[in-house]
Amino acid sequence: MHVSTRTVCLLLGLAVAFGVASRAANADTQVEPTIALKMLNAQQQQFGQQVVKVTDNVYTAVGFHGANTSMIVGTDGVIIIDTLKGPTSAAKAAEAFRKYSDKPVKAIIYTHSHGDHIGGASAFIGDERPDIYATESFGSAEGVNKAVAPVKAKRNVRQFGRKLSPSESTNRGVAPANTDDSDGGKGFLAPTVKVPDSGLKTTIAGVEIEFHIGPGETDDAMFIWLPQNQVLFAGDNFYSSFPNLYAIRGTAYRDVLSWSESVAKMAELKPHVLVPGHTMPIRGEQTATAVLNDYSEAIRSVYDQTVRGINEGKSPDQLAHEVELPKRLKDKPYLIEFYGSVPHAVRAIYAGLLGWFDGNPTTLSPLEPKLKAKHIAELAGGTQELTEQMEAALAKQDYKWALELSDYLKWLHDGDKKRARKVKIEALRGLAAREYNAPNRNYYLSYANELESGQLSELWF
Ligand SMILES: [Zn+2]
Repeated sequence: MHVSTRTVCLLLGLAVAFGVASRAANADTQVEPTIALKMLNAQQQQFGQQVVKVTDNVYTAVGFHGANTSMIVGTDGVIIIDTLKGPTSAAKAAEAFRKYSDKPVKAIIYTHSHGDHIGGASAFIGDERPDIYATESFGSAEGVNKAVAPVKAKRNVRQFGRKLSPSESTNRGVAPANTDDSDGGKGFLAPTVKVPDSGLKTTIAGVEIEFHIGPGETDDAMFIWLPQNQVLFAGDNFYSSFPNLYAIRGTAYRDVLSWSESVAKMAELKPHVLVPGHTMPIRGEQTATAVLNDYSEAIRSVYDQTVRGINEGKSPDQLAHEVELPKRLKDKPYLIEFYGSVPHAVRAIYAGLLGWFDGNPTTLSPLEPKLKAKHIAELAGGTQELTEQMEAALAKQDYKWALELSDYLKWLHDGDKKRARKVKIEALRGLAAREYNAPNRNYYLSYANELESGQLSELWF
């Protein structure tokens, strides 16, 4: 289906107007199902497969996998920035690039160490042995203890909707669904040149190039600047969506303030073209600079509001419902919460700065879940009444309440677990249909499928 840019803008405008109205009451990313789907379909335009001619000597391949890869053509060779996740998709991008230049690869640059940017390097080179640039701290990106790898892997599958059926799949917010990940990491080539903390200015294949250290989505991130034609490669510190300040697959604390500062530094360069790590390049000095300033301000605002709320004694639950983007920024197409989410960011900032305790002594040593469920059932008038309340909530499309009640029922020895599970599945699908935040939507749907297939243990339900 072809949708013109004007249609997309109109659509997003409508959807945002609706989303904002909804957010005021719910602080979430829930809208009417048809609008949620239209918004996600419109966002799809950001990663349709194509090679974008950025300038006379810069090309960016969008949509060949989840992330972007770029080629800079110099006098006697080319420079590749980021290499996709595995050699198969990288080979397709490399072939598309060869239509524009068949010069040898002189250098490969990794903007950061996330797998979707580094795993396809081998596909770009023949017999050449190019220099491979990365930061000194390259590889420190994840920071999640390997001990929890098993559960992180499951949550990753849910966040990205890796096992969803074609009819359930939309996209991943800043990347298409159903990328081929079977050879992920197989083309990785280790860095040979470490960019120091002070950055680096050099000339490669006759192209002046600057490496700026810029911690953000990862601590080992840098952004790349071409002073001659004023092109900025942002890596994953910018893409068209509210940034993923926390990933629900599970991440260590992402330094939100550094991210905001790195984006502000990028804005100071006043780029003529901004090439993101995902989604389409943005053109025009005024536009690109304004976009970066807005992005930096949005992150900073969420951080500042959260810190203010923390110092007022507010809990993460309260703050997640209160903090919102300033009015001026809410309707910007590049700040819609397709990938990152403001409430998730608020909770991450709270936990990152203070840990799990919300300061309320009630939560210091709360009731054990089974005992709490028993009391809630008593309060409802018995397990049967609790079950009826749960089903009434589902019938009223009060999905979040239905989910909470189904979770209580799972702990009750006389609870009808089968019924509760069925309600949970339906409530998750109800929430998913209204959700335009892709990770939330994918997670709800994936979890519902897992529950339905019986693969989740009693512990999970
Ligand atoms: Zn990425």
